[in-house]
Amino acid sequence: MPAPAVTAYIGIGSNLAHPRQQVQRAVEALKAIPASRLLAVSPWYGSHPVGGPAGQPDYLNGVACLQTRLAPLALLDALQAIEQQQGRVRHTRWGARTLDLDLLLYGNDIIDSERLSVPHPRLAERAFVLVPLADLAPTLQLPNGCSVASLLGQTATTGLWPVAGCHSDNDTPQR
Ligand code: ATP
Ligand code: CA
Ligand code: CA
Repeated sequence: MPAPAVTAYIGIGSNLAHPRQQVQRAVEALKAIPASRLLAVSPWYGSHPVGGPAGQPDYLNGVACLQTRLAPLALLDALQAIEQQQGRVRHTRWGARTLDLDLLLYGNDIIDSERLSVPHPRLAERAFVLVPLADLAPTLQLPNGCSVASLLGQTATTGLWPVAGCHSDNDTPQR
């Protein structure tokens, strides 16, 4: 019997090597993840780096909604493979990167393993995640019952701005 389909949300970020191109390429790669269907991509936002080394370029951030039959770790493998394909190098924690794909939510699951924590542990404090997530799913509830909109209401959104002209396709025919 096939695994049930789960709705996952993926945070996308880039601040190196032409971020607009990086995120567009990432969206194409998300469409090609096996046993999955890309349902929606949020509008894009610029953000100032939070934490990490000083002097990094600003980020381009968005969120994708993926319906998937992959298990959580298999999905993480697929996301990390896409990061690798796009030249991700890990130097310092929260350092600049060509592409970052974070598994924000995997259905209503709570996962706490060596490689994977879901919901993403810093989701609730990050405007660059909450704002595009709320664009896609404002009434979505985290496993703890908090809605995305209520979390956003408690989070400062300074240092975040909409980026026009960055293509989002929410209705692309899938396999
Ligand atoms: P942050 O997690 O604060 O956003 P980061 O994205 O810069 O920081 P990475 O260097 O991309 O962190 O990832 C470090 C490790 O985090 C990965 O090797 C992965 O195993 C682990 N990890 C744990 N939970 C998640 C998750 N929900 N999504 C993606 N990676 C995760
Ligand atoms: Ca991240
Ligand atoms: Ca990451």
